[in-house]
Amino acid sequence: MCLFCKIINQEIPASILYEDETTLAILDIAQATKGHTLILPKAHYPSLLEIPEDLANQMLTTAVKVSKLLMVALQAEGCNILTNINEVAGQTVFHAHIHILPRYKNDDLAIKFTAHEYDLPQLLNEILTASSS
Ligand code: AMP
Ligand code: ZN
Repeated sequence: MCLFCKIINQEIPASILYEDETTLAILDIAQATKGHTLILPKAHYPSLLEIPEDLANQMLTTAVKVSKLLMVALQAEGCNILTNINEVAGQTVFHAHIHILPRYKNDDLAIKFTAHEYDLPQLLNEILTASSS
């Protein structure tokens, strides 16, 4: 059984912030920012990409609810909501989850987008051609 399934089954402890029939919100053990929270589906799926549409909607609803709660409780000025899919994207626990990272003016979280130049019409064509075949 995976780590998050063990938390869901209460076999290992976690700081549970919110729970409903299908989702659970726990504080991340390694707080990247104050209030860093994970939204988990109670059912096991390896990543967000395998989750049925209804459950994905429920996870997003919980993520929005918990983000608002965290921002008010901790006086955060914003938040990042993200999910890592597969090792290459930084996923380390292979039970789907959404990170909520409350943001503060002088926090030290670095999420950096570096711009790269691609020929956009050619890129669009490459994607559409591949996805229609
Ligand atoms: P990811 O790298 O996107 O797969 O995220 C996995 C997250 O799970 C990391 O941010 C870890 O700090 C967090 N984590 C690992 N073990 C636990 C645990 N026992 N309780 C709460 N969070 C955990
Ligand atoms: Zn699991």
